[in-house]
Amino acid sequence: MKFRPVAASNADVSPFGLFTVTPFAALEERMSESYTVASGVGGNGVKAYQCGVCESLITYSDRTVNISGSFRHRCYDPEGAGCDIYTFSGCPGAIPYGIATDNETWFPGYQWTPAFCLQCGGHVGWCYQALQESIRPTQFWGILVSSVRVR
Ligand SMILES: [Zn+2]
Repeated sequence: MKFRPVAASNADVSPFGLFTVTPFAALEERMSESYTVASGVGGNGVKAYQCGVCESLITYSDRTVNISGSFRHRCYDPEGAGCDIYTFSGCPGAIPYGIATDNETWFPGYQWTPAFCLQCGGHVGWCYQALQESIRPTQFWGILVSSVRVR
């Protein structure tokens, strides 16, 4: 794999040591494509969304996806704190980690799992999966505007 291995001794400070328990079957496929493109601006004016902490690639502007008519959303947690997220169809530089839940979901019909930067483990947003196969898209990502920079 092209993916940078993480020593098992890092497991206590990083979720990466537990990759094999991820329920997402497509993970290995996404991992293999993660770093085949150099960081920075891609071809045809496609912009790169980079991790705000380590600057590694999270995703590209051509992977934005409109959910409920927009790819930028203002969301509020149960305590009323707001945040802005972009929605993407794919995030090759992020990984969902944790137990999926539809509790307090911002997108009815979808359950969510926290998503982290593959490189540094910083929290970058959430991965959403449809609760029913008839819902489209079946999966998308909500990435915090405040956790990425656009190049
Ligand atoms: Zn990072």
